[in-house]
Amino acid sequence: METVTNKIAVSEKPEGYEGAGFFATRLDKVVGLARKNSIWPLPFATSCCGIEFMATMGAHYDLARFGSERLSFSPRQADLLMVMGTIAKKMGPVLRQVYEQMAEPRWVLSVGACASSGGIFDTYSVLQGIDRIIPVDVYVPGCPPRPEQIIDGVMKIQYLVETESLRRRDSPEYKAMLNKYGIE
Ligand code: SF4
Repeated sequence: METVTNKIAVSEKPEGYEGAGFFATRLDKVVGLARKNSIWPLPFATSCCGIEFMATMGAHYDLARFGSERLSFSPRQADLLMVMGTIAKKMGPVLRQVYEQMAEPRWVLSVGACASSGGIFDTYSVLQGIDRIIPVDVYVPGCPPRPEQIIDGVMKIQYLVETESLRRRDSPEYKAMLNKYGIE
């Protein structure tokens, strides 16, 4: 009879010093490790790419493996804004308001050609990329991207989350970047 094995992968501990009864490491490494494995996404899905996201959340691809099964439909309890689909210019201010309501630290994943560049909709009514109104951390190409690509994008966000310095959000460079978008 086949034995059911435990396939749960345990995260690597960060670099540090250890001895009998102690382990010491840097605070930002521990915070990064915890944040990386407990990202709460806010799905801002307006069209077909949103369907790919639904597949990504389903049993086969199972975003829960990355600790991100808890979707947040309130910006104040989310730390990853996932923008999926065509963003009409009329929708731009809504998207920006959602971003502004998220607490720091926050990250943005632009999923698919429409969110990243307007995609095939090179028209007067469609925003030609969400980075015209909010900063984007990772872009996922494709029309639509497959769930594997969305997972790849989430893993790239995880890398950024894990390695981000605790001081980055207070840095003049970060504030200058937000100022460029007119965000206080
Ligand atoms: S990138 Fe393609 S699949 Fe995604 S929302 Fe646009 S048209 Fe739809």
